[in-house]
Amino acid sequence: MNYQSNRLGQIPPYLFAEINKKKVAMIEAGVDVIDLGIGDPDLPTPPHIVEKLVEEMQDPANFKYPSFIGCLEYRQSIADFYLRHYGVELDPETEVLALIGSKEGIAHLIPALIDPGDTVLIPDPSYPVYRMATLLANGQYYDMPLLKENNFQPDFDSIPQEVVDSAKLMFLNYPGNPTSATVDVNFFKKAVAFSQEQGIPIAHDSAYNMVTYSDYTAPSILQVKGAKKGSVEFGSLSKTYNMTGWRIGFVVGNKEIIKALSVLKSNTDTGQFTPIQKAAAFALNSDQNCVVAHNSIYEERMAVVLEALSSIGIQVEPPKGSFFVWAPVPEGYTSTEFVTHILEKTGVIVTPGNAFGPSGEGYFRISLSVPTARLFEAIHRIKESI
Ligand SMILES: *Cc1c(COP(=O)(O)O)cnc(C)c1O
Repeated sequence: MNYQSNRLGQIPPYLFAEINKKKVAMIEAGVDVIDLGIGDPDLPTPPHIVEKLVEEMQDPANFKYPSFIGCLEYRQSIADFYLRHYGVELDPETEVLALIGSKEGIAHLIPALIDPGDTVLIPDPSYPVYRMATLLANGQYYDMPLLKENNFQPDFDSIPQEVVDSAKLMFLNYPGNPTSATVDVNFFKKAVAFSQEQGIPIAHDSAYNMVTYSDYTAPSILQVKGAKKGSVEFGSLSKTYNMTGWRIGFVVGNKEIIKALSVLKSNTDTGQFTPIQKAAAFALNSDQNCVVAHNSIYEERMAVVLEALSSIGIQVEPPKGSFFVWAPVPEGYTSTEFVTHILEKTGVIVTPGNAFGPSGEGYFRISLSVPTARLFEAIHRIKESI
């Protein structure tokens, strides 16, 4: 029997399935596999945040159903962060919504805004959730190619008019996963102008907003004047504070969009555990030295990887944000062939670029979220094998 809905049947087979099978077989055969495919920080959540969670867990008032829009303390900490960090004012009552991780909010936003058959404009390559959640909502996605010659920015003018006409939502993501591309606020100005002209709301995913290097700071789309008329921004504590497993994020910006998402959410979930929300508020309100320290570790790892890639003839410009290196595969390989070759020859896993969309073909992604010594070892093995 096939019990699965047609909707679910549209989800393509997991692209890593074949690689995963090989990985498991190699581990069973005793190979010391190093996985540079995982986008999950190896560093621990800073102790002051963990201590705050433990403290809040002692208070029985926190054990009840949480408010599904998020406790005021958490929403206020997000509004304060936006004012302090970006100079953007937000009303914590109507322009801030707590999420059970930003992935949850991204996946729920799509059915909150689109009807079956509507189009969602999606960066290609990008985080797979935008695409899959669109399919689950019986929508269609349109891939906006992110090309190196355009600094991995979409070319809005090249989107066909009939696609623009049926589009109900556009996703953007800077610093970008997987491309590690960054933008300045001028790019967001262009995006907001396009959004307003065409009446297409923008959802900007800023999961890596605080993972930045040297003197670069990532802008918020809400810094563009008038952006709140049709844009929201997703934020996450996952990558900033190494809190991926805590499941806490937020969305800010346009009131109507936030209202729509909160109606959908109020009928599907009941918010994140209050002690986690309070610890997240504490993280945002506290000294940010831990963020600086994490970033300097990633920056050090980045240098190791870029130098090693350069020594085997792969040139990558130093990224200004995210903890990914997005590199072209050597001549003569497809993404999948190269990744398979590396795995079989060295036991090192990297992610094939085409796993993130068709324009990712010809690239592979290295994640810097493994201990520096393991990264050295992986790079050494790759060098030996080529
Ligand atoms: C990790 C990641 C997320 C998800 O973050 P959570 O808040 O942990 O759900 C969202 N977008 C991108 C691009 C990511 O890489």
